[in-house]
Amino acid sequence: MNVRSQISMVFHLDKCIGCHTCSIACKNVWTDRKGTEYMWWNNVETKPGTGYPTKWEDQEQYRGGWEKHGDTLRLKSTGKARIVPNIFHNPSQPSMDDYYEPWTYKYDELFNAPEGSDQPTARPISMVTGEPINVEAGPNWDDDLGGSPVYAENDPNLDALPEDMRKQMFAIERLVFFYFPRICNHCLNPGCVAACPSGALYKRGEDGIVLIDQKRCRGWRACVAACPYKKTFYNWNTGKSEKCILCYPRLETGQAPACFHSCVGRIRYLGVLLYDADRITEVAALPDDELVEGQRSLILDPHDPVVIEAARKNNIHDSVIEYAQKSPVYRFVKEWKIALPPHIEYRTLPMLFYVPPLSPVMANLDENVVSSVDGSFFHDIENSRVPLKYLAKLFGAGHEGKLLYALKKMKAIRMHRRAVTVGDITADAAERALKEADCTAEEAEAIYKLTSLCTFDDRFVIPPMHREEAIEMMEDVGQHKSSVGFGFVSGPERGL
Ligand code: SF4
Ligand code: SF4
Repeated sequence: MNVRSQISMVFHLDKCIGCHTCSIACKNVWTDRKGTEYMWWNNVETKPGTGYPTKWEDQEQYRGGWEKHGDTLRLKSTGKARIVPNIFHNPSQPSMDDYYEPWTYKYDELFNAPEGSDQPTARPISMVTGEPINVEAGPNWDDDLGGSPVYAENDPNLDALPEDMRKQMFAIERLVFFYFPRICNHCLNPGCVAACPSGALYKRGEDGIVLIDQKRCRGWRACVAACPYKKTFYNWNTGKSEKCILCYPRLETGQAPACFHSCVGRIRYLGVLLYDADRITEVAALPDDELVEGQRSLILDPHDPVVIEAARKNNIHDSVIEYAQKSPVYRFVKEWKIALPPHIEYRTLPMLFYVPPLSPVMANLDENVVSSVDGSFFHDIENSRVPLKYLAKLFGAGHEGKLLYALKKMKAIRMHRRAVTVGDITADAAERALKEADCTAEEAEAIYKLTSLCTFDDRFVIPPMHREEAIEMMEDVGQHKSSVGFGFVSGPERGL
């Protein structure tokens, strides 16, 4: 057992209100510079929808992530033999048209317009050419199903549904959408790291955050093609690639990342997980329907004395083990099993998990009385407006059972709380629902509390990781000082 620690995240989709506050917080902190105009390290998509960059989930086009090659895995986008022919042009890399042409407005014409009979306007101008443009796309162009026939209906996840189900989904009385915020998943088996010919991408030993060394990056953009989530970007101004850094300077000072901190819906949770690095290759190569369970089994129980001993042997500090025991992510993912990884079939083992959304109650309006279509208070999960098959394609590599388990549990908790607080559902019915959903009343209360009544400290359990302390996690500080002196992370060598 090779125990490592990883900062991981859970996004609870039922709580996201699509306000884009997270995206703006990130934009203002990290990507408001020249060359980053089109970058959104955090973006919020409306599902069903084609997302940003357009159709990023279509791996036939973008060839991101890993594919099975016999018993091993290989990158879809590149490889030793393919790197040379694609060196100046990688056909699977997104171009600016796939993102959008960034624009601003001629504010001068608005603020300094002379008095006249017309209302002054600010025309949109391209941030690339400076010329006036007709804005044709943006990072959330299909927000709230805007332009559904063009965007929502072309969502690659809809391929999982038969034609009649697809049609039903877009019938006006069944129409439904949910928000899907996305950042870099800081994967355990990151395609971006494996693809970089310069070795500029790396995963930090102490917390698993994936970063790009700006000195080493030579702008090959192999990471852009290899990330199936399209979360590395090319900066045309510096000639280097950039990506979400999980606000590591904030984490190192005990603060939550900016998008987490500012989240209005409080959908975001952050904590540390312990995992077994020896099993990454084995798990990433499992058949599709075993991937979710495989990734869960990689995550180790931080209370298990064997795990604790192995973690200590790997120089994981006791404080990290203690924080792993308090991690909200561990509870959602491993104990309660209601948070699932996105598109795990891309095999990068993403460490951002999502609690899938419950659909609105299916109801009829009959003589001004709204009644649930199947007569019960909450409709059956199998008859949800968002078909299980669709959610399974997004979060379970097609395994509907995993989604059913999570959604049934969440419905049972709703019934339990309704029975406790309003009383129009009998205690018996609530208890039956909990039993069917493999949940106890205590677990239901704990999930309810962490979902609805959580404080800042419940949501963000950040282990101590000041840079100086981070070194303590890895090695003895006295020894480190004597080999490299203060101020260096690696030993100085002649010629450097
Ligand atoms: S989401 Fe993409 S950029 Fe982030 S670690 Fe995974 S492969 Fe790399
Ligand atoms: S700030 Fe939170 S609630 Fe608002 S869109 Fe972002 S993730 Fe959703």
